[in-house]
Amino acid sequence: MNKIQPANSETDDTPIIVIKNMHKWYGEFHVLKDINLTVGKKERIVICGPSGSGKSTLIRCINRLEEHQKGTIEVDGMTLTNDIKNIEKIRAEVGMVFQHFNLFPHLTILENLTLGPIWVRKTPKKEAEETAMFYLEKVRIAEQAKKFPGQLSGGQQQRVAIARSLCMKPNVMLFDEPTSALDPEMVKEVLDVMISLATDGMTMIVVSHEMGFAKSVAHRVLFMDSGQILEQNNPEEFFNNPQNERTKLFLSQIL
Ligand code: ADP
Ligand code: MG
Repeated sequence: MNKIQPANSETDDTPIIVIKNMHKWYGEFHVLKDINLTVGKKERIVICGPSGSGKSTLIRCINRLEEHQKGTIEVDGMTLTNDIKNIEKIRAEVGMVFQHFNLFPHLTILENLTLGPIWVRKTPKKEAEETAMFYLEKVRIAEQAKKFPGQLSGGQQQRVAIARSLCMKPNVMLFDEPTSALDPEMVKEVLDVMISLATDGMTMIVVSHEMGFAKSVAHRVLFMDSGQILEQNNPEEFFNNPQNERTKLFLSQIL
């Protein structure tokens, strides 16, 4: 993969996510320990690290699927609180794509895409359908609009899940191992869609062990272990010259 750096994807120094001294516990278990992370507009971050290191928990805290107990998380100037209006506003800013797609099996592809806009945003049905078709074209799957998720391959379902997120017009997209449940031959079609999003200038935080993707798309790669961000750097330095022993060990196991 070639490095993509079109003019419109240069990062902007304006931060869109600011996490300061953030901690989270699951009961007694201290899962995230003093997380500090600032993400600029249009910045693309890849997070890697061993299973159980807290990667999913971290990105789930950013759109309040999980609640942190200490420190602050700000998204586009809004501090995350428990206020339901506040949570709705944050979710409007931050889209999320999961490992297992999470499409509604009893709804068609088109209905999966229009549900949020119609019910949450009160968008008129016709407009919601036009927007849905626009994003289905973008992920190159418009011809499947009338089918049900179970009739599509895993790669197609994940492209639908990405399109569904985009229909809510997010400013930031979070991806939690979006290709790790896919058969190998379907990984590329999903990564290609993500690369095209990157080219359009989307701010992205991607939990992934697809190192080719990280090298070509990320501005910054983070390594997490035991609930901490242990190392971060641009992809060249991160992969060629890792500093932390645990990063070195991890890279030696996956590369
Ligand atoms: P990763 O995505 O890096 O594999 P996770 O964020 O899923 O890590 O999990 C971090 C740790 O928190 C793991 O030890 C996991 O078992 C634990 N954990 C995750 N979700 C919960 C939960 N809902 N309740 C209790 N423990 C959890
Ligand atoms: Mg995870």
